[in-house]
Amino acid sequence: MSAHSITDAVEELCRTLPSHVTLVAAAKTRTPDEVRTAIEGGLTHVGHNYVQEAEKMINSLGRDVKWHLIGHLQRNKAKKAAELFDMVETLDSWRTAQALDRHCGAMGKIMPVLVEINSGLEPAKAGVFPDEADDLAMRLGELRHLRLEGLMTMGPVTDEPEEARPYFRTTRETFERLKTAGIPNADVRWLSMGMSSTYRAAIDEGANMVRIGTKLFGDRA
Ligand SMILES: *Cc1c(COP(=O)(O)O)cnc(C)c1O
Repeated sequence: MSAHSITDAVEELCRTLPSHVTLVAAAKTRTPDEVRTAIEGGLTHVGHNYVQEAEKMINSLGRDVKWHLIGHLQRNKAKKAAELFDMVETLDSWRTAQALDRHCGAMGKIMPVLVEINSGLEPAKAGVFPDEADDLAMRLGELRHLRLEGLMTMGPVTDEPEEARPYFRTTRETFERLKTAGIPNADVRWLSMGMSSTYRAAIDEGANMVRIGTKLFGDRA
């Protein structure tokens, strides 16, 4: 997409999203120049799927925006993730959580994290099943250098908002349950769900964080 249309897309989304919804640009496969254009247009949060590519992008674009990890976190990348990101949206294992906590502790940093929910119950996919979320969330309460701030879900791949809705609803129910579960050291307030084709349905179902790539930057090559 041309710089002009990225600027227009950011402007339009910022104008039309409800004010309680945080827009996170999904930057995978994009160039630093494309993301810079979006930032200059008013974007404040950038999500990246890959730790190494995020590092390059952060080095080139700086830290005036918030950087979110939105791809799967492998345990051997926990140190880099601790250094680079302002939020990890995709925590789904206790072992990775412990590693991330240890590296954040060494840096004197508290990392906001979301637990990724595998709302479609798809065995090959990342995330914890909704009925496992409470257990992981409670254990996260023991880790002093992570702060649980909510949930994230992808749901089964679909461009059809009505097909995505039940998975958003399940995640919302899990979110409401965790909010009142009395988890120590937690501040459960972010529900990250919805992408370019499904974000309106996600917001209807309670999302207050949306991750959008195509609608901002155009189709991926
Ligand atoms: C790519 C991606 C998005 C955005 O997808 P679009 O359909 O391009 O808006 C959102 N979340 C995650 C985790 C992604 O990998």
